[in-house]
Amino acid sequence: MITLNNTEMYQSYAIGIDVGGSSLKCGVVNHHGEILYSTIISLKNAKTQGAIIALIVEAIQTCAKKFKNPILGVGIGFPGIIYNNKIIAGADNLPGFKQLALGEILQDVTRYNIVMDNDANLMGLGEMTYGAAKDCSDVVFLTVGTGIGGAVMIDSKLYGGFRNRGTELGHIVVQHNGIACACGGKGCLEAYASVTALLNHYQFIHPALSEMENIDGKYIVEKYLAGEEYAVKAMELHFDYLATGIISFINIFSPQKIVIGGGISEAGAFYSREIERRIKTLAVPITSTDSLVVSAKLGNKAGLLGCAAHVFQKFKAFDYAPK
Ligand SMILES: [Zn+2]
Repeated sequence: MITLNNTEMYQSYAIGIDVGGSSLKCGVVNHHGEILYSTIISLKNAKTQGAIIALIVEAIQTCAKKFKNPILGVGIGFPGIIYNNKIIAGADNLPGFKQLALGEILQDVTRYNIVMDNDANLMGLGEMTYGAAKDCSDVVFLTVGTGIGGAVMIDSKLYGGFRNRGTELGHIVVQHNGIACACGGKGCLEAYASVTALLNHYQFIHPALSEMENIDGKYIVEKYLAGEEYAVKAMELHFDYLATGIISFINIFSPQKIVIGGGISEAGAFYSREIERRIKTLAVPITSTDSLVVSAKLGNKAGLLGCAAHVFQKFKAFDYAPK
């Protein structure tokens, strides 16, 4: 049991559970965004929907036991389409989780307030509340990795479209009749600007590399910084396509910040600078005046902090916090 001093007693606490394909990242967070306790639970041996739910319940109870103070609620980040605390369709790598009112189940078992949303949405909310876009109300968040995910925050709130099925930022079309995408569409931003696309392109143009060779984004970034011809070519195209997508987001939303997360965005300041340089010449000038491109700050804590931020936002923690 962790004991709290007087100041901490008046703080609000939330439990965050960030559900990934292979593990649960769980923790207790105060409304300042400080993680007071965290742990990772492996899903390796959880083969069924029921087993995973049991582990989520256990995670909530473990977190709650660490604190005497009341917990305002539990925020859950889950991969897939989530609407009204219900999983409409979960990620392919988790068994089951279709048309499942998980929020209601967890509320009945744990007696805590539950609030759920898509995991990428909550990473965006985390960055807006506690990270790279802390001072902003209008933000576009992108994760660039194997695929491209993202979130849109308008007036400090997540925007999800009708029944929370929108903001599939990786699937805006940047090339008519282009490369086939995992979503079933063609010419999506993800098919051109994800790290997967970057790797494919580099291996395709590099004369001495076979497709079997095991390289990653970090390798290409190192070669790019060293000025290797093929890496420069592949990265330039990566920046061009990513900027093309981001220009559309700027022209629609005019965000204060475009926050880019995922391993590759942490490669260095040159990454956001290269994208920003392209944007300044191509976006509608009036929409992009105040738009800055920045790297995400919270790394792999963004999801957990976003889960907690969602609880504080939903259950209005700040109303009874002392001034
Ligand atoms: Zn797509």
